[in-house]
Amino acid sequence: RAGSPLARRSLSWRHSIETKNANVNAMIYTPREVSRTGGPELPLSGFTVAVKDNICTSAMPTTCSSAMLRQFVSPFDATVVRLLQESGAAIVGKTNCDEFGMGSMNTFSIHGPVVNPYQPADSTTPWFERERRSAGGSSGGSAAAVAAGMCDAALATDTGGSIRLPASYCGVVGLKPSYGLISRWGVVSYADSLDCVGVMAKTVDSVAKVFTALSLYDPHDPTAASSATRQAASEASLTISHSIPSQGSLHGVRVGIPQEYFPAELHPSIVQPVRKMLQHLRSRGATLVPVSLPSTPYALSAYYVLSSAEASSNMARYDGIQYGSYVEPPPGMDKTKTANVYAYTRSAGFGAEVQKRILLGTYALSADAFDNYFLQAQRVRKLIRADFDRVFKIPNVLQEGGTPSSEGVHVLVHPSAIRTAPPLPSRDLDPDAEDGAILDAYVQDVLTVPASLAGLPAVSIPAGVGDDGWPVGVSVVGQWGCDDVVLAVGKICE
Ligand code: GLN
Repeated sequence: RAGSPLARRSLSWRHSIETKNANVNAMIYTPREVSRTGGPELPLSGFTVAVKDNICTSAMPTTCSSAMLRQFVSPFDATVVRLLQESGAAIVGKTNCDEFGMGSMNTFSIHGPVVNPYQPADSTTPWFERERRSAGGSSGGSAAAVAAGMCDAALATDTGGSIRLPASYCGVVGLKPSYGLISRWGVVSYADSLDCVGVMAKTVDSVAKVFTALSLYDPHDPTAASSATRQAASEASLTISHSIPSQGSLHGVRVGIPQEYFPAELHPSIVQPVRKMLQHLRSRGATLVPVSLPSTPYALSAYYVLSSAEASSNMARYDGIQYGSYVEPPPGMDKTKTANVYAYTRSAGFGAEVQKRILLGTYALSADAFDNYFLQAQRVRKLIRADFDRVFKIPNVLQEGGTPSSEGVHVLVHPSAIRTAPPLPSRDLDPDAEDGAILDAYVQDVLTVPASLAGLPAVSIPAGVGDDGWPVGVSVVGQWGCDDVVLAVGKICE
């Protein structure tokens, strides 16, 4: 068996991935043998795909970068993994991430941080002297694996920006699809109302190919968009989505530039590449329209309240008995008290950031705080959705009686992140530190969370480099279900 052609090919893949991975730490598991199904006629034949480690695979561990799941191997494959295999893709490994998807730097991981593999163009410095920058999070492993050429594409999840932010920092394409288009069955929940599976690759074409193979109704996922809803959305976007790719021009396409996406936190060196991209879109015939989404400044706070609330509920299942690694309480502790056993296992199994989110979320859901935090955040979420629906030309098929605005725009374009990849912290981020480092990490998400709260499709495309020579990304955001439109405009941005 070791001498079979398949085994030999797998070994050489493995070797090549391991060499590329040595200084990057993007891939945390590579299988001994890569299984492939079907023949060359399948849509993803010949495609190598890495999978974020919070997506269940029966042939590989799924740790979610947490000590709580260090030993976990899922008894089944997530729907997306099955669909990849049925489409002929080879799954070449699992990628590093922030614990349970909570983070923006991929530093909260039992596997250690991911190092951004990007090399500034004029850099002659050998790797061991190079500046170590974050690959972004939480899907830093997926972005870095793509950027370093370990795979053709990677699956990742995006709850509040975890695909778009690392894509932007690593200089790759990252798509967060419309909420509900890709199945979440077998994807470990962080915040169910926001979690989306998406795709990263070097080109929009590769992303689109994988997206097409995965965007199918799945009866196992209660939040999956029905076939009728998908149909309605594709009809609503038809005129525009058909005209863009065939003519490769943006004549008749109205691109909104939301003024709130150029906040005080935006680093000045981001503005130039974004401006250049907008000029490029104009030169291809797009009409640029300044728009306002006035609720944007409240999105980040609402996101952290809602995502922590949902996380606190989702993390409750890891009690060391039904789910998660059991840690034996120390001698002397009364083990007949289940609360002791739970508390001990959960303190040992969850990292500090996850524990913080559980506490924040539990607080936001407590009787005293519910109205002020959880309900307020839900109201903000409604306002954010209404802001988007007001500026888009294409109606929202999820909203009854949604009236499109004839003056509206087809897509929005804005910077994906407020800066280029931040340096990796020299020490572990201490969630209790009062030096602003943690708040800085949360602020990274300020431009990505609105589309998550509204469930809209958004793709981050590399848009050149900032003053420091590191990648800058721009995001194209569209109406719900208009993923094709967003990808078509994204392709022209490439
Ligand atoms: N950085 C955000 C958070 O920590 C987003 C993470 C994500 O999209 N999974 O919640």
